[in-house]
Amino acid sequence: MTPTQQIYWHTTVRIPDDSKLTPLPETVQVAIIGGGYTGLSAARTLAHQGVKVAVLEANTIGWGASSRNGGMVLTGLKLGMRSVMKKYGRETARRLFQCSLESIDTVEQIVKEENIDCGFWRYGHLLTINKPKHFEALKEDVEFMAREFNHPLRLLSRDEQQAEIGSEIYHGAVVDECSGGLNPARYVSGLAAATEKAGATLHARARVNRLERKGGRFILETERGSLSAESVLVATSGYTGNVTRNLQKKVIPIGSFIIATEKLPDQLVKQLIPNGRMIFDSMHYLNYFRLWDNRMIFGGRAAFFPETSKTIERSAEILQQEMIQVYPQLNDVKIDYVWGGTLDFAFDMMTHVGETDGIYYSLGYAGHGVAMATYMGKTVAESILKGNIKEHPFNLFPFPSAPLGLYNGFPWFLPFAGAWHKILDWIE
Ligand SMILES: Cc1cc2nc3c(=O)[nH]c(=O)nc-3n(C[C@H](O)[C@H](O)[C@H](O)COP(=O)(O)OP(=O)(O)OC[C@H]3O[C@@H](n4cnc5c(N)ncnc54)[C@H](O)[C@@H]3O)c2cc1C
Repeated sequence: MTPTQQIYWHTTVRIPDDSKLTPLPETVQVAIIGGGYTGLSAARTLAHQGVKVAVLEANTIGWGASSRNGGMVLTGLKLGMRSVMKKYGRETARRLFQCSLESIDTVEQIVKEENIDCGFWRYGHLLTINKPKHFEALKEDVEFMAREFNHPLRLLSRDEQQAEIGSEIYHGAVVDECSGGLNPARYVSGLAAATEKAGATLHARARVNRLERKGGRFILETERGSLSAESVLVATSGYTGNVTRNLQKKVIPIGSFIIATEKLPDQLVKQLIPNGRMIFDSMHYLNYFRLWDNRMIFGGRAAFFPETSKTIERSAEILQQEMIQVYPQLNDVKIDYVWGGTLDFAFDMMTHVGETDGIYYSLGYAGHGVAMATYMGKTVAESILKGNIKEHPFNLFPFPSAPLGLYNGFPWFLPFAGAWHKILDWIE
């Protein structure tokens, strides 16, 4: 039976709907484009400081990656810390890693302060090792993280990994106790309520179609009227469009897909992931998986292109096969839901914040946005208030454009990138 094409998380919470559209204000101090973690977290912080702020969202609040993701609240950045240190030096690398730890604390603190019922818990994450030769590289990584970042990781041999995962296919694993997990749709829904409570206004169905500067202010034309703002923050992640063309050309939208199984018996659940870890593997074309309410939530970049009904349908088949390779015991289990969403990658795989022509932005979370987008929203808002965005740790290095300018916002190269990743997985 084919699974329902629906975001499973949406069945677990009342998502902020668009039945009552809040009228747009005529003027605000800060207008935020995009109603996900970045936009909401920034708006909450600004509103707490008495700033008049409006969040403009093209669809419903939380519609983007923020209500579709795997809910893994992870330490570190997409780019490994060894590469980060090589590129930016020890001091910057330490600062950036510290931000990643603070980003998890930020999520934890917001969930606690705002009483958000999203199941946040420090489950820890498990990086599973797909090939024997990855084991040696990860052993060095574990030593490197302890030496350079004072960050404890635990390397498990193939025998030891049985305490963490009921799968035979891996060649060991690395445990990071610091990471967490949550239900992303419940989190974004709670964050939206907290943002409104702080005094910001949230506007669903308010796609910004045009943004222009007039006499020192910005005019934002939306599908249901215009408003004027002193400052603008772009928080559109993988859905960045041609309203902010210069930014669109720096963000690669990449599809990621997830299936959710039917509810599994308690005993099987305990065997699959005994300690409830958030799990991802050591491949370029990686899989990530975790449990929620006795369902296996299993994701991957099954298609590289963003979600369409076709890519979602095909992804369901691919992901089911991949899940059964990891867990043959799930062979006869029914897949209830499948969905997709779009991630945002910068060409250097780093997150970037900054200001260009008076427009602030925070983009490029590369699959680490649950914690990072929350943190960036908060810290970019603080930088806007202090007027010191130049000093933000994620603005200390340039935001690269496509090599040779070979990208105009349509990611024609994704099939090649996908094939390249497959080749890398084969040879590395
Ligand atoms: C399938 C999937 C799994 C993932 N798993 C994880 C995970 O386990 N852990 C993790 O850390 N990260 C994960 N991520 C990434 C994470 O979800 C994102 O990095 C994060 O949600 C980004 O938040 P955001 O607020 O910046 O953007 P989004 O939540 O994507 O919001 C951007 C919003 O901007 C709106 N928008 C775009 N253009 C306009 C316009 N012109 N006018 C008005 N609004 C506009 C869109 O409608 C959208 O709602 C995953 C992502 C996907 C897709």
